[in-house]
Amino acid sequence: MISEQKTANVSLESLLRIFTVPEGPDSTLTQIEEELSRNLNKFLREHIVAEEKPLRDIEKDFSYASIPEQPEFVSDHTQHLLDKLVSQSVHTSAPSFIGHMTSALPYFLMPLSKIMIALNQNLVKIETSKAFTPLERQVLGMLHRLIYQKDDGFYSQWMHSANHSLGAFCSGGTIANITALWVARNNALKADGDFAGVEKEGLFRAMQHYNYDGLAILVSERGHYSLKKAADVLGIGQQGLVPIKTDVNNRICPVDLQNKITELKAKRIKPFAVIGVAGTTETGNIDPLADIARVCQKEQCHFHVDAAWGGATLMSNNYRSLLSGVELADSVTIDAHKQLYIPMGAGMVLFKDPNSMKSIEHHAQYILRRGSKDLGSHTLEGSRSGMAMLVYAAMHIISRPGYELLIDQSIEKARYFADLIEQQPDFELVSKPELCLLTYRYLPAHVRVALEKADPARQELLNELLNELTKFVQKRQRETGLSFVSRTRLNPARWNNLNTIVFRVVLANPLTTCDILQSVLEEQRQIILSAPKLMGRIEALTKEINAN
Ligand SMILES: *Cc1c(COP(=O)(O)O)cnc(C)c1O
Repeated sequence: MISEQKTANVSLESLLRIFTVPEGPDSTLTQIEEELSRNLNKFLREHIVAEEKPLRDIEKDFSYASIPEQPEFVSDHTQHLLDKLVSQSVHTSAPSFIGHMTSALPYFLMPLSKIMIALNQNLVKIETSKAFTPLERQVLGMLHRLIYQKDDGFYSQWMHSANHSLGAFCSGGTIANITALWVARNNALKADGDFAGVEKEGLFRAMQHYNYDGLAILVSERGHYSLKKAADVLGIGQQGLVPIKTDVNNRICPVDLQNKITELKAKRIKPFAVIGVAGTTETGNIDPLADIARVCQKEQCHFHVDAAWGGATLMSNNYRSLLSGVELADSVTIDAHKQLYIPMGAGMVLFKDPNSMKSIEHHAQYILRRGSKDLGSHTLEGSRSGMAMLVYAAMHIISRPGYELLIDQSIEKARYFADLIEQQPDFELVSKPELCLLTYRYLPAHVRVALEKADPARQELLNELLNELTKFVQKRQRETGLSFVSRTRLNPARWNNLNTIVFRVVLANPLTTCDILQSVLEEQRQIILSAPKLMGRIEALTKEINAN
């Protein structure tokens, strides 16, 4: 890095300079830019998981709460960021980082994202975004068509219509889910007679007018935690989010769903929305969407599909049938920052009916005028970046068949890994992959035998020890290993619904090879060797059980 001996000073002249377009290939900023790219690429090549340093130590580098009085040169500060921040961040795009839904990015997005930052368009209104607005509407149209497959006529009529909306672009699945349920709530409690609608009069009056004792949203017990936030901010309350039992494959039971709805209605609680999950966060399973749609049709309630993670599967003609029934949903959430490989901050909610979002339309005098095409009249968020541009670019550069290949290879790799795990005498596949997500744990054959034949008390005890082992291995692997898997807690029917800690793997990175997967297991075996005390307790209990 270019080292500056001088200290920077505060002057209007230097401030004006930082707002001026840098000139020439030799300008300091151009050099910094090149050096930064070089350093980032180096980091991305070398680090698998960032060098382990306790968070407590890292916090010391971020401990001053006062805003600096002394300005710094950009070059010096860049070095500071590389030393203190970049080196201690997480390399989410490493091929052996297979624990989360945040994955690798195609590199063409780095230079293209400059267009977004440099132009700094604000998508809240046309006046600050111009062509970015029709672009975003087109992206929403593309995703809408991916789900609902309407004809050309539909999109030429609605995609750019000022008074309609096919959906909303937002920062992520959480906001997308909140938006869908906001629309559903307002449609369920709409203006009627002398009641002006929940958006005007609020929930208390809405309950009085409609003679309800409460509202409910139903989702399987594997629903994402963002739905709790949605129930909370929409005034339904977290208890209004009613969990429905799942079967052995982590899918909602439609019969239980119907029974619960009947039960709620008897208590004058209005079930106004049911959510189908298309790709659960913990196990990657897909609810029987067509069955849920049938219940919703009968009960006249909004059917929302949370396909934040799994929605991208629709890109593959080979696997899109896994989500069959999604086209019956009133609304669908898809995160482009998960399996569409877009940087964070790209969520979408799509509505089947271009009129649905009227129930949340907002207008203001100076912007979002009635009849304008301002996107802000249908979004929960206000000022928003031109993120849709990156989705647009990826759709063109990768194309639908390109995404199909990416989706197919992820699913096939997950199947390979599942087979590999099942072939090991010392691992147990806990949830089979329906998409590219699976869970498993360490469970040697003789311990498995003991776990099967143990009485309930000992079974629980042994299972607890195994949970401790899984936790230990996952933490140690994250801290010191060459790879990263996450962990979660499931209640497999196979083990009497006991709380079971499992390794969770998401195989979205196309650069993850079968060799890497094999070495993940090998590494876990090695880590287990470093836990002789815990393994000793597991072995002792196993022996005791197997002796009986
Ligand atoms: C990731 C996810 C969400 C939340 O999305 P964010 O983009 O993190 O806000 C919601 N639902 C499901 C099923 C998800 O996988």
